[in-house]
Amino acid sequence: MPAGRTHDRITLWCLPFVTISAFGFTYSLPLTVIVSLAFLVGGFMLGPDLDIRSIQYVRWGPLRWIWLPYQIAIKHRSRLSHGPIIGTALRVVYLAAWLSLFTVVGMSLLNVLWDAQLTWQTIREPFRLLFRKYLSEWLAVVVGLEIGSISHSISDAFGSTLSRQRRKKRKAAKKDK
Ligand SMILES: [Zn+2]
Repeated sequence: MPAGRTHDRITLWCLPFVTISAFGFTYSLPLTVIVSLAFLVGGFMLGPDLDIRSIQYVRWGPLRWIWLPYQIAIKHRSRLSHGPIIGTALRVVYLAAWLSLFTVVGMSLLNVLWDAQLTWQTIREPFRLLFRKYLSEWLAVVVGLEIGSISHSISDAFGSTLSRQRRKKRKAAKKDK
């Protein structure tokens, strides 16, 4: 399995291909930028290795503890973290759950301390409008995140095959001696 820095390098090497392909598919500069940025986020911060104390986990800084329950619940390199689509989907849902919790706490604090009279309705409406108005942009985010995750899983699988072959070769060389 490649180390965190190797994964970072692979993400950077893949970036030009992702950007060119995104432009080839969308013919849109804003969507290309969104896919590319989401790809970087998917590779550097929201990647499959959040299931261990990896470099991706460290990059969450003071908020990295939010990934501890995820690490406890999900086995390293399991399908739930490294599998295509399910890995990204689960991380996005997991992060959304934390964001909702933070929103509830923030809203309650504002209501108690400043009588802000915020309700789910006041918060939900702008989000719904944002979602409807920028559907293709949201889709671009999801696609970028997924490509970032897939590039990680492919390099993991490639790294494992390579080290297995190396081990076999070493064993064979020992037998020949
Ligand atoms: Zn991994």
